[in-house]
Amino acid sequence: MSLLVIEDLSVAYGQIEALRGVSLTVESGEVVAILGANGAGKTTLMRAISGLLPKRRGAVRFDGTDITRAPADRIVCLGIAQSPEGRRVFGTLKVEENLALGGFTRSAHEIRQGLETVFGMFPRLAERRDQLAGTLSGGEQQMLAIGRALLARPKLLLLDEPSLGLAPIMVQSIFRSLREIAASGVTVLIVEQNVRSALKLADRGYVLEVGRIVHEDSAARLLASPEVQAAYLGKA
Ligand code: ATP
Repeated sequence: MSLLVIEDLSVAYGQIEALRGVSLTVESGEVVAILGANGAGKTTLMRAISGLLPKRRGAVRFDGTDITRAPADRIVCLGIAQSPEGRRVFGTLKVEENLALGGFTRSAHEIRQGLETVFGMFPRLAERRDQLAGTLSGGEQQMLAIGRALLARPKLLLLDEPSLGLAPIMVQSIFRSLREIAASGVTVLIVEQNVRSALKLADRGYVLEVGRIVHEDSAARLLASPEVQAAYLGKA
């Protein structure tokens, strides 16, 4: 049984249909990348899975449960956590407080364990545990957003543009951490402008164009595909 099954999903903002009949699956233990140009509907897909947007048509099943109409907090309880585009950390709270909020469905003991795991993975956050999140650098805030999602102990981690706006060295560092997270057994669905890095991390990928899935393949074949290279990897 697939961990995540999306069938014929449509999501609209008023008259604008941002997703039109999207179907995809994510198997347990996989890393799956969603590629697409600006405005293709990638963020809409992530927010719809998380229960932050209503679905106009179609179904979403997670771990055998129909979550099509489930509220966002229940979806977190079931095991899906999202690191949102633009990070959205709580600037006036400390690093450790931001992380603990990510564990709102967890016991105090699990939160303590989670903090140690995240501080082990991101030593820069450990050094800054009492710093206000709003004063962190962009890369550090990204680590915090990913760490906060991990505090929920998700089975499925949704990552929306984790490398957006970061310097190349920080991008490398974030992707090293993502490899570690994937190797620890967390299933990952990732949206990323940095297509090469995303496909190197991923097992499979889907290409989204104006709200529709137009292509699906192994990450290796997508990386080698002339169409993908021309459209997303800057090669003619
Ligand atoms: P980007 O890479 O630029 O972040 P994206 O693939 O994540 O793009 P979405 O943000 O999902 O794309 O947007 C898909 C479409 O839905 C776009 O045409 C966008 O203008 C529209 N859209 C997104 N959010 C809203 C909203 N709150 N109200 C109206 N239209 C919206």
